[in-house]
Amino acid sequence: MTDRVALVLCHEARIYDHGPQHPLRPQRVLLTWDLIAAYGLDRTPRVATLGCEPATDDEIGLVHTPAYIDATRRAGEGEEGDWSRFGYGPGDNPIFDRMHDAGALVVGASLAAARAVWEGGHDHAFNATGGLHHAMPARASGFCVYDDPAVGIAWLLEHGAERIAYVDVDVHHGDGPQFIFYDDPRVLTVSIHEFAPWFFPGTGDLSERGGAGAEGTAVNVPLPPHTGDDAWLQAFREVVPPVVRAFSPDVVVTQLGCDTHHTDPLADMRLTTAAYRETAKLLHDLAHEVAGGRWVATGGGGYQWGRVVPRAWTIAFAEMAGVELPDELPEAWIEKAEFALRAEVPATLSEPPLGPGPGDDGAREVAAAVRATVG
Ligand SMILES: [Zn+2]
Ligand SMILES: [Zn+2]
Repeated sequence: MTDRVALVLCHEARIYDHGPQHPLRPQRVLLTWDLIAAYGLDRTPRVATLGCEPATDDEIGLVHTPAYIDATRRAGEGEEGDWSRFGYGPGDNPIFDRMHDAGALVVGASLAAARAVWEGGHDHAFNATGGLHHAMPARASGFCVYDDPAVGIAWLLEHGAERIAYVDVDVHHGDGPQFIFYDDPRVLTVSIHEFAPWFFPGTGDLSERGGAGAEGTAVNVPLPPHTGDDAWLQAFREVVPPVVRAFSPDVVVTQLGCDTHHTDPLADMRLTTAAYRETAKLLHDLAHEVAGGRWVATGGGGYQWGRVVPRAWTIAFAEMAGVELPDELPEAWIEKAEFALRAEVPATLSEPPLGPGPGDDGAREVAAAVRATVG
């Protein structure tokens, strides 16, 4: 393959920071870029690095309401107000300094990726800062200020794309893009996620299939907790490629959250990096098969910020770039990560297999049920 691949580097987006007690730490992404660079992936001939600019209000407004953008800007500048009605306050979505600028940079980075693929002659593009898939048109949710994947999709539609497939492998339901495009037959949203009574955000059941006139354009694979690599991958393979193939999109947009990892502190799945490698390969093959290679990838959740996230997304980016990486992590990166984390990090990309999980049988039943529903 002679792919051209773009890596969006947006160091300015480190201001997207809810504070030291919050799980969504900017270091997740900074250490990812460090690992990508330590492996030399950013300097391979097929890879171009791109910067970012903040998205404009008009661009953010493709998805979000003017009142919400205004509230986000004013709250982040320290103004008093009833910001709780926009989802802001103590807990998941604390108000933080320059909140609008931070969110606008994340959206801008996803738009840079979308532009690179749609107009810039790149086959694939990756924005690790993106994937903030819980933000709603007028409300912050689940650590997410602006819904950059949804804005990216809306931008692509505005610039001539006719059909977009969005695939979300984060452990949480991709509720933002699903809600925003629920009635839009031009956008297929597919989300494979943990589903349990206690688990955020609570949506993403089988029965959510798209609104009137867009039936079948929302597909959910709600898996039980403690699903392991093999059953998760089986569910993915049985559902995602067939529905995306049948939809025949112009572009594939993916959210690559890695909070499915068995050590993630916020979720209960049982995946290892082997599943991330295979998922990236399946998505890569799919993008070439159905969308002429056009693949816009974002990051997403993942709260083992030193031990898992950088390895997971470096594996995904290596797949995009068509590079087989040595399994041993570069020593200089390990030192840097261990200094930041004040703890050991794994020395290899690969991990020992965990074997079957207690959720596996349930996961296989869910996959069969989804297959029966989507036909
Ligand atoms: Zn490719
Ligand atoms: Zn998540």
